[in-house]
Amino acid sequence: MKTYKNSSIFKSLNEQNYHKLIIGASLKDLESIEFYAYCFTHAKANVIDISAFPHSLISAQSGIETALAEDPSLEKPLIMLSVNVGQDPHFRRIELDTNLCTECEACIPSCPSNAFFMSPSFTYNEDLCFGCSNCLDYCPYEALEFKDWDAYNADELNRLFKMGARAFEIHLNKDFDAFREFYRKLDLEHIDLESFSIGSELMNQQELLQAKEVILEEVYQRPGVENRSIVIQTDGVPQSGARFSDQHKDLKSIENARFLINSFENLKPDNCFIQIAGGVNHESLSKAKSMNVNINGVAIGSWLRNKIIDLPRQEAREFSIKTIKKSRTQNVKNFTKRG
Ligand code: SF4
Ligand code: SF4
Repeated sequence: MKTYKNSSIFKSLNEQNYHKLIIGASLKDLESIEFYAYCFTHAKANVIDISAFPHSLISAQSGIETALAEDPSLEKPLIMLSVNVGQDPHFRRIELDTNLCTECEACIPSCPSNAFFMSPSFTYNEDLCFGCSNCLDYCPYEALEFKDWDAYNADELNRLFKMGARAFEIHLNKDFDAFREFYRKLDLEHIDLESFSIGSELMNQQELLQAKEVILEEVYQRPGVENRSIVIQTDGVPQSGARFSDQHKDLKSIENARFLINSFENLKPDNCFIQIAGGVNHESLSKAKSMNVNINGVAIGSWLRNKIIDLPRQEAREFSIKTIKKSRTQNVKNFTKRG
């Protein structure tokens, strides 16, 4: 029987203060990945979510090791590889048409990832793009366009598991057969945590329920592996943390979580956990619980990255530590109050 191996993450999920910190499913800039992995390890992330490429993995491992060397009391976070099966807003990137671009610089301030800059002439570094869509409204010459990524190859993902990644997240589209086929090819032997992202603008409530059923069927009926713990991530407005100042941009993910939790009608498997993403910040966990939505944790991504991206390394580290601590503490405080 396979049981959940990383007990501290299991504890966080059970205590409803699990924190996944997201570097980005599309981000491929290695320096940025190392920087965020370093800050997020110091912030005591349970899981660090990255793009599923060998060099992304090596850079994240490097950032984590640097943080652990500085503070050996820290626990090593799990590295989660995010992949898509079918189209998903997390797996796309802006393409610049240099024939249409006039180098007017209008897009430069729009990018929360600093992908456009002058160096000395106008430059676009596509490895920094995480697909938020913000820049599209700023370009007067239609020189920017999205390009979706192809779905991942399961064999390539299995190779990354052998390089030390022990967690993955599959972003499901409505093509459930494609999901089943992909999932069945994964080698789960050394995997500590499986996560499945559903929701966002891609799914209506009926499809959300269908996705849940397909996931549970595949995970819990897989022969030879029982009692595995999984996280279902309900997505809201993807990558909105850095784009909108509206403090309630996390409501869609919270409402999706409420709908999903209610759909279990008290029959949710003990080892199936619910976590929100999309517009999530340091107050979202506390907010969800104050709305009686008993999620097990949060995924914080673009909101936090946007706060630290331009800070010097040590300041970014301290900000991340303080912010995640606040997120966990607020949770306990509100929980006690409701008591
Ligand atoms: S604004 Fe968003 S979509 Fe545009 S380049 Fe920057 S990260 Fe990519
Ligand atoms: S706003 Fe459009 S035209 Fe202007 S620099 Fe950016 S991509 Fe080029």
